[in-house]
Amino acid sequence: MAKRLVIPGNLYDRVLAQCQEDWPKEACGIMTGHGEVVRRVYALPNAHPNPVSRYQIDPADQHRAMSGVLAGQEELVAIYHSHPSTPAYPSQTDIAMANYPQAIYLIISLAREVPEVAAFRIVQGHVTPVPVRRVGTLIGEWVDLR
Ligand SMILES: [Zn+2]
Repeated sequence: MAKRLVIPGNLYDRVLAQCQEDWPKEACGIMTGHGEVVRRVYALPNAHPNPVSRYQIDPADQHRAMSGVLAGQEELVAIYHSHPSTPAYPSQTDIAMANYPQAIYLIISLAREVPEVAAFRIVQGHVTPVPVRRVGTLIGEWVDLR
């Protein structure tokens, strides 16, 4: 199980930009790759009827984003979403809805002027912080399905 989350610099920056573009709605997406290293980010539309304070990934979008995972070519590394006005910590809803114990949950908070990025593993209601590293020398693929 990955002990940290490694994100290519271009993808890290692009995800932060997505969160700002989608504000005041919560942004969301899926990160795939191998082990702790993200290779591909799928930016997804927030399908929740109340997107300002919740997020929901449409099953069809999730299926597209997970096609490489389902084909066995890559792994689900992380699921991310933004908190437009609350801290970068899982909400009670985030904890209750965390159905992927093998994945890392990445939260980007825009509550302050400088975005706050934090990652967690959520297993059966237990939240454990996971360090996040932005690696500028790594380049990944950005897939925008919004
Ligand atoms: Zn949340």
